[in-house]
Amino acid sequence: MTKKKLRLKSSAKKPLLVIGIIILVLILILFFYFNRIGELKNLGYSESAAKNIIFKFKYSYVIGIGKNKTLNAAFESDNYKEENLDCYAKIDYENQKHLISNINKLLDKGYNVNEVSLIISKGDDESVSDFTKRDKVKYIEEFLSVDYAKLENLDRYVAYKEKENDDAETTVLYVNMDFDKEDYVDPIVIDDFDDYVLVNKHRQLSGDYIPDDLVTIDDEYVKADEEIEIERNVAKAFYDMAKAASKEGMELMVSSGYRSYADQEEITNTYLELYGQNYVDNYVAKPGFSEHQTAMSLDIASKSVDTFVESNEYSWMMDNAYKYGFILRYPKSKEDITGYKCEAWHYRYVGKEIAEYIHNNNITYDEYYVMFLDD
Ligand SMILES: [Zn+2]
Repeated sequence: MTKKKLRLKSSAKKPLLVIGIIILVLILILFFYFNRIGELKNLGYSESAAKNIIFKFKYSYVIGIGKNKTLNAAFESDNYKEENLDCYAKIDYENQKHLISNINKLLDKGYNVNEVSLIISKGDDESVSDFTKRDKVKYIEEFLSVDYAKLENLDRYVAYKEKENDDAETTVLYVNMDFDKEDYVDPIVIDDFDDYVLVNKHRQLSGDYIPDDLVTIDDEYVKADEEIEIERNVAKAFYDMAKAASKEGMELMVSSGYRSYADQEEITNTYLELYGQNYVDNYVAKPGFSEHQTAMSLDIASKSVDTFVESNEYSWMMDNAYKYGFILRYPKSKEDITGYKCEAWHYRYVGKEIAEYIHNNNITYDEYYVMFLDD
């Protein structure tokens, strides 16, 4: 009797033991699972990416790579492809909606990881998506490795290089400056006021482009009997500069400042009536194409000498203007780039930091803008 009882007891214990072991194993699995999710999240992976990494058995692979934003995006995406895993890890991340599907398409086209990185970094979601529809293009690395290259200009780089045979850096710079387009044809039209605005023969200000903080230049700095307006910060910088110059015996004056779109229209019409279309086309800035409409430019004069270029003030400005944030906008040595004959008197305010860079590197604002400010 007792034996039977004991037997019954031991056979009832067995399933309990199995259940116990199963529960223990489940607890261990869950422990490892959450532990690994935690580790991946610490590395910067999102919850959903971390789950997919574990379910796709790529935990060790990802831990071996470490933090990687492109991998994170790949594991978050429905477009994840296992065969591209090594490539995802080597491609620089960009915050683009179709990043992973575009990477897949570019890899399918036969681009290498370096080319894919360049393509996605030099375009935006839309231009990259468009680009994936094209047949494979050559010269990707040559042009797109230039810092300020733009994917949407790639065909223009190729065409310009064939024509001019400049090096890749110059080609990218010049095409971004629209040197492959005729002056005044199909210009970019700008309407929002911006201190750093670039105006040239390819970039026009609209009639709505109106500076927001104009002040009148003090009479003592104005030669003719007229009111000259300028942006407030430019006026301040000019006064600082004029005071410093006067300590060295220089007398800086202003002969022109802000001119509105309407002013420029009036000037154009006056010259048109007096001298005809040909004269106007060659010598008068069309409305919107004058930098004076930005209110960031000043024509500088000397109080005592009428021809500015012959004055001591001219030399002083050449050596010192940049310290106060002004640059000579149309220098003699840069006529090919600015598209303007030298204007020894025309200064543009860009702030001290940019002015110093432009001065030290002997470049124009057109080049600086394309290299550092254009997006
Ligand atoms: Zn001027």
